[in-house]
Amino acid sequence: MDKCSVVLANKLLMRNGTDSSLDLWSRTDVQTCTTWGAPIVWDGMFDPGLYDRVHRRKNSSVALTVFAVGRYLDAYLGAFLNSSERHFMVGLPVTYYVFTDEPEKVLRLALALGRRMRVVKVERHSRWQDISMMRMKTIADTIKSDIRHHATHVFCFDVDQYFGGRFGSEALAESVALLHAYYYRSPKCLYTYERNPKSKAYMVTGDFYYHAAVFGGSWHNVKAMAEACYKDIMEDKENNVEARWHDESHLNKYLWLHKPSKVLSPEYCWDNLTGNSSDIRVGRLLWATKQYHTLRIS
Ligand code: UDP
Ligand code: MN
Repeated sequence: MDKCSVVLANKLLMRNGTDSSLDLWSRTDVQTCTTWGAPIVWDGMFDPGLYDRVHRRKNSSVALTVFAVGRYLDAYLGAFLNSSERHFMVGLPVTYYVFTDEPEKVLRLALALGRRMRVVKVERHSRWQDISMMRMKTIADTIKSDIRHHATHVFCFDVDQYFGGRFGSEALAESVALLHAYYYRSPKCLYTYERNPKSKAYMVTGDFYYHAAVFGGSWHNVKAMAEACYKDIMEDKENNVEARWHDESHLNKYLWLHKPSKVLSPEYCWDNLTGNSSDIRVGRLLWATKQYHTLRIS
C-alpha cells in the first residue's frame, strides 16, 4: 500500500471511532487496509486494552453461534468451547448459541462471569452440504427471535477449530469478514469463487477470498447477511444448482456486493499445517484436524 492510500485510509478510519487508533504503518509486510478504507486487522496494529475499555463503556455484548450436528459434536465442540472461554471476547458479556441435534450431549461448562450458554435443537439434514448451508437460516431466525434482544454483535463460527490466542473486541465492527488462510497472498485468478452463471453465487471477480468459518458484525448486519445467503441458496436449489463451496460461495458474493467494514487477517483462522509464516505472529484461532471421511454423514 502506498503512502497516499494509507493517508486516505486513516481519514476513513477516523469515522469509525476506535478504529482511528489503528496503526496501519506498524505492519509494512502485509496489507493493512482495503481499497474502500476498511482496516485489515493484524497483530501489532491495535491496542487491545483500548478496544476493551471502549467496548465495555459502550456496553457491547456478543452472541457466538456454533453448530455441532452429528459426529461433529463429539469431535470438536469441547475443545472449541473450552478454548473460547480462555480467548474469545474475554471481559465482555458473551452468550454462546450452540445448535445441535443432540442437546443432551452438550457438556455444561462452568462459564466465566457474564457469560452464558443456550443450547438449541436443530434438525439433522441428511447431506453435510445442507447442514452447512442451512446454518444461514437458523442464524437469521435466531437473531430475529432472540439474539437481537440480548447482544449488540454476533460472531458465527465453524466448530472444527480452537482458539489459541486473543480473539477480542478489536474484531468487532458493523460487518466483519475473514481472509482465507490459503488465498490471502494468492493472485485473484486462483480464488475459488462460484463460476457457474446459473448459480446466484456466480462472480467473475472480487476483492478477496473470504473464509466462511468466521463472520460477524452488528446483529442487524449479520441478520441481513444470513438472510441474503439463505435466499440465494434456496433459489439455487429451485434451479437445481449448488455452489462449489456452498454457504461460503454465497457469502463471498454477498461480501463483494456489501463490503465489510472490517477484515480479519488469517491470524483469526490459521491452518498450522500450511506451515509457519512470518506474517502470522499469533494464531488466534486454529483449524482442527479435518476428518471428513469419518465425520461427515453422507
Ligand atoms: N457441521 C456439522 N455437522 C456436519 C457438517 C457440518 O455440525 O455433519 C457444521 C460444523 O459447525 C462445521 C460447519 O458445519 O464446522 C461447516 O462444515 P465443515 O467444517 O465440514 O466445512 P469446511 O471447514 O470443510 O468448509
Ligand atoms: Mn470447518
